[in-house]
Amino acid sequence: MPEYHAPIKEIAFVFNQLLHMEQHYQNTPGYEEVTPDLVDAILEEAGKFTSTVLQPLNAVGDEQGCQWNDGVVTTPAGFKEAYQQFREGGWSGITFDSEYGGQGLPYSLGTAISEMISAANSSWGMYPGLTAGAIHAIQAHGDELQKNTFLPNMIDGIWTGTMCLTEAHCGSDLGILRTRAEPQDDGSFALTGSKIFISAGEHDLSENIIHLVLARLPNAPEGTKGISLFIVPKYQLDSEGQVASKESKENGVSCGSIEHKMGINGSSTCVINFDNANGFLIGPENRGLNCMFTMMNVARLGTAMQGLAIAEASCQGAIEYANDRLQGRSLSGIKNPDKVADPIMVHPDVRRMLLSMKTLTEGNRALGYYTAKIVDLSQRSEDEKVVAESEKLLGFLTPICKAFFTETGFEVTNYGVQVLGGHGYIKEWGMEQLVRDCRITMIYEGTTGIQALDLMGRKVLADKGAALKLIINQIKQDTNDLPSELSQYKKQLLAALTLWPDMTKKIGFRAMKNTDEVGAAAFDFLMYSGYVCLGWQWLNMASIAIKDMSEDENFYKGKLEKAHFYFDRLFPRAKMHSKVLLSGASSLMDITPEQF
Ligand SMILES: Cc1cc2nc3c(=O)[nH]c(=O)nc-3n(C[C@H](O)[C@H](O)[C@H](O)COP(=O)(O)OP(=O)(O)OC[C@H]3O[C@@H](n4cnc5c(N)ncnc54)[C@H](O)[C@@H]3O)c2cc1C
Repeated sequence: MPEYHAPIKEIAFVFNQLLHMEQHYQNTPGYEEVTPDLVDAILEEAGKFTSTVLQPLNAVGDEQGCQWNDGVVTTPAGFKEAYQQFREGGWSGITFDSEYGGQGLPYSLGTAISEMISAANSSWGMYPGLTAGAIHAIQAHGDELQKNTFLPNMIDGIWTGTMCLTEAHCGSDLGILRTRAEPQDDGSFALTGSKIFISAGEHDLSENIIHLVLARLPNAPEGTKGISLFIVPKYQLDSEGQVASKESKENGVSCGSIEHKMGINGSSTCVINFDNANGFLIGPENRGLNCMFTMMNVARLGTAMQGLAIAEASCQGAIEYANDRLQGRSLSGIKNPDKVADPIMVHPDVRRMLLSMKTLTEGNRALGYYTAKIVDLSQRSEDEKVVAESEKLLGFLTPICKAFFTETGFEVTNYGVQVLGGHGYIKEWGMEQLVRDCRITMIYEGTTGIQALDLMGRKVLADKGAALKLIINQIKQDTNDLPSELSQYKKQLLAALTLWPDMTKKIGFRAMKNTDEVGAAAFDFLMYSGYVCLGWQWLNMASIAIKDMSEDENFYKGKLEKAHFYFDRLFPRAKMHSKVLLSGASSLMDITPEQF
């Protein structure tokens, strides 16, 4: 297993030089006391916790997986103790409301911590990750009683949370879900139905599990407009809001089985059965999907960060190996005359892989933290215009981050195996686990295909390009002040910015005649958007590197070289995606099912 070292220097570069977080926190209501010293101290501590406590359990979790026995799920050895340490360290409540026991720190800071958690042990990270999603939903849509009843224990971590959407016959298409909620005389509801693939649905880490469940009320309209959201605790609560005594606590919630999966084996993926389980409506009737979207946006960004984080772990393993492994001689002259061979780092093809890994990962980090900064603004700014703009930008960037970071994260982990050659394929080295663990990130929280449709359909065409215009203006503004050394790359980026809305107009026109044109263009449009956004971030990083070169030459020269690599070897992929997306739907849709 590659040893994970939290990339504090990289994170600090993005925080301090690229995104000017010090200024951002000072200007954001409620974050004025988040000083650089505090941020540094938290990142250091998170780095220690994740590298020394969580990472050593990553291979253990993969090997042992979770065990199901008569409805009871046991997590891999060490997971429970690590969770206890996590809670005791106050990590579970770090970004949540201080009114309910949290520390009220910015979402952007939490994003850096969650990157480290997922890089060290993505399976383990699922338990607090799902809880965070549930907390967000209760905070946003719960009434006072619900907030007071559930949030303190969830923020403390003594209770965990889930999101229960998927059923055997419905995944992407939630409009057809069947779980039912019958109103009870006391104002609560009795839920009956079966959910599958529920992450953290049952386990031994917490005293209670608070399920957020999508279900239908009697006579609810068909489709997505007839879905409501409910809070269903695994164990019933007493009048004090604590888990009821043994005799009365059962709530008709049971774990029927757990899945045996390709990866994230330490995360329990459960069938959860609700049998007249007592639950409480959260948010308005039939608006459950909208409420769940609050949770899903945050969860989607969390999944994006998982893709990036696992890629980071893979980069670390591959670079270390490439410097150690002696194989072949450099074609341009022996580099290691005292040894039998040169390290594989000398070979251009190995560098192609390593630089692809690094530039995608560092570029995604820059874009991911930029997006997290926008979340801070959308949550805290007192300026209505800033909030409205932030929400628009978030809507646009969330599907890009989710799909692009996970698609490219998977590519990175795949290269990670290739760099190690045969050893990459062997379990002991841990690189293949990273491929398996990363693979799910492209599927859950909405597959890449669904993110692409969301971006192209809802966030661009339905929005008449308003969010796209915002991001283009922001990118143009950032490129105003670039050093002349970068003018060639700036030209490429500006050309891509011009093409971006032009392509959407073309697709929009074609869609008036044939709506399949949108679905046929969506994936390539999303990937195009991802490469353009990374081009923007790499230009920004290169610009800082040129200006600050004298302060830490190796670090900044590295950034500049990576920007060159990105524009010469990865940015051209954007052009390929633009050609494909403009090629139209016919090459996909003309063939009949029988002709496959
Ligand atoms: C390990 C794991 C953990 C999970 N955790 C949770 C959880 O905690 N809670 C929860 O509720 N769910 C969870 N899920 C479920 C997950 O969110 C779904 O698997 C996912 O949303 C896809 O749904 P599906 O599997 O039914 O695939 P389907 O919806 O059947 O999709 C199959 C394929 O068709 C494509 N497709 C479907 N519809 C369209 C469309 N309209 N346009 C274009 N393409 C389309 C998809 O992109 C995909 O490629 C988890 C799944 C796994 C495997």
